[in-house]
Amino acid sequence: MFINRSVITTVAHQSQKSWQDLQTLAAELTLGNRILLRLLICTASFVVGVGYGDRQEFPISLEPLSTAKANAGDGLQLVNLATRLEFALTTPAAITNSEPEWSAELPPESPEPTPEEPTEAVPEPTPEPEPTPEPVPEPVSIRIRAVGDIVPGTNYPNNHLHPDPRQLFAAVQPFLEGGDILFGNFESTMTRSNAAAKDVRRPNVFAFRNPPEYAQLLKQMGFDVLSVANNHAYDFGRQGFIDTVANIEAAGMTAVGVKDQVAYTEVKGVRIGWIGFSTSPNQNSILALGSAASLVKQAEANADIVVVSFHGGAEGTGAAHTRNQTEYFFGENRGNLVEFSRQMVAAGADLVLGHGPHIPRALEIYQGRLIAYSLGNFVGYRTLSTRGALAYSLVLEAELDDQGNFQRGQIYPVLIERSGIPQRSTRSESIALMRRLTATDFPATPLVITPDGRLQLPAPANP
Ligand SMILES: [Zn+2]
Repeated sequence: MFINRSVITTVAHQSQKSWQDLQTLAAELTLGNRILLRLLICTASFVVGVGYGDRQEFPISLEPLSTAKANAGDGLQLVNLATRLEFALTTPAAITNSEPEWSAELPPESPEPTPEEPTEAVPEPTPEPEPTPEPVPEPVSIRIRAVGDIVPGTNYPNNHLHPDPRQLFAAVQPFLEGGDILFGNFESTMTRSNAAAKDVRRPNVFAFRNPPEYAQLLKQMGFDVLSVANNHAYDFGRQGFIDTVANIEAAGMTAVGVKDQVAYTEVKGVRIGWIGFSTSPNQNSILALGSAASLVKQAEANADIVVVSFHGGAEGTGAAHTRNQTEYFFGENRGNLVEFSRQMVAAGADLVLGHGPHIPRALEIYQGRLIAYSLGNFVGYRTLSTRGALAYSLVLEAELDDQGNFQRGQIYPVLIERSGIPQRSTRSESIALMRRLTATDFPATPLVITPDGRLQLPAPANP
């Protein structure tokens, strides 16, 4: 028998690519080994699956592999088991734990010949211990989860806070757990200042304010990094902004978006530099490409991975498309998001997390880096509109290698209920929207978004 962990690992990788790859792989396996592999992987997917209690609620579609089955022919057996494996691997628990969790259930790795010579189903005892194939090195990867605009109610001018604010995040908690870092755009202030910088008596003018204790709440909900570069950060002037940043830091989180500053975090020994941009003159501007790029270069020199967050673009359901041109909203220049994002990547940014349009937008892979043009709303309790597609939301996961190259990702679909509280979506509206927008706005981008929200790079032409 030649099945050992490296073969399983290969299958695991293949199962996330395409069924053609699986067929190729299946052709190299004998029937006996296919059956044995199936048994092992069934065990593995069971072990992984039971670790995640919400699996049934999880909107996993097996559509690509099921349609492939009809044509699978000789590879049917392997496609079947790989389907099971893929199901297991795409649950958050599996993504979190990857190999070590279930490989414990596998037979111990033993030195065995390479899977070339046996062509019959009869498993042969191994004659002598040959050197096994190189153990697949466990590369460091960083899984960043990110959400868009968070306005957890406001207490200005009147009290619009939730009586139990933990409920604002309760339904989507499983989506917030499981990454290495959780990022969100905090689109309010945390201050006790009463000096609103906006005249809220005017129509459609809002000054958002939360008590400082909300920093602890966000920390408890799992947030590590919060953007404070947006058009509400200065709702209570400079003092409100300073208070907000201080409260975020005091709660043990990192605030991103102080002008001319790079914030650094470290996870798994990988140093990440964060920079926040907006269209506000008080903050790093997405309109000043030269100084933005030099800030990115400064971060690049001091970190392994650079993440750029921006708040820009036109707003609303009429602003879902991303074009390589300057966007205006009520006459205000809200930036050319494509030009900005691509130039930041060219300057060294590894991940671009956009927000501001209040609706999810397209994704793009540029120079091997992921750009999310808008993450949409996330929490807008009694503050943000949830009309139509403004209610479509998501938790984005981007898995990067330790150099920042995009590896794979996931869209966890969220639907925001009328009061502005996010719920896990059962109909995956935001995935469908982002698939459509990516196809129309960036038709050539090398990114596959599956109907169940997985983000994959196309398999290389020459494996
Ligand atoms: Zn905004």
